[in-house]
Amino acid sequence: MIILVDQDGPLADFEEEWLNRWREKYPDEFYIDHVDREDFYIHDQYPKHLRAQVDAVYHAPGFYRNLPVVKGCQEAMFEMLDMGIDVRICTAPLPAYQNCVLEKYEWIEEHLGMEFVLRTIIAPDKTLVRGDILLDDKPTVKGSMKPTWEHVLYTSPYNRRITDQKRLTWDNWKEVLLPMLKK
Ligand SMILES: [Mg+2]
Repeated sequence: MIILVDQDGPLADFEEEWLNRWREKYPDEFYIDHVDREDFYIHDQYPKHLRAQVDAVYHAPGFYRNLPVVKGCQEAMFEMLDMGIDVRICTAPLPAYQNCVLEKYEWIEEHLGMEFVLRTIIAPDKTLVRGDILLDDKPTVKGSMKPTWEHVLYTSPYNRRITDQKRLTWDNWKEVLLPMLKK
């Protein structure tokens, strides 16, 4: 059994860090609370005249390196390994890869250790990566192949409208994933 776990969303809290930085940098500017996020890309939910500033926040050096750890993910990742599951981190890089790719690895080494650095797959197209389950907060994961994995959503406000897929958080992951392992 191979479980591919997306990095931003399930493991690293991109949304929290982005909003904290935005509010700090532009305290009087328009913003959207996490619970009101509707579009997967923050950029798409902000007015056009702010989008260059929106992007600059997550392109900045140190952004990816400093993302907060999603509560419960470390315990769950190691517990899955202990259960004999072949857990891999599967993450798509930003087109602006300059800080993102290196810092993603640094983040993984700090918070999950070298074992997971060696289990990391950087893949712009996740459909090309084989696995049984892809745990990802993106509402729809598309690419050039028919995936071998089943997409399980990591629950977030911007994917709440999807009702025809399994979903979980680290609070209830066992209830969702363990029955899938038995199949
Ligand atoms: Mg994600």
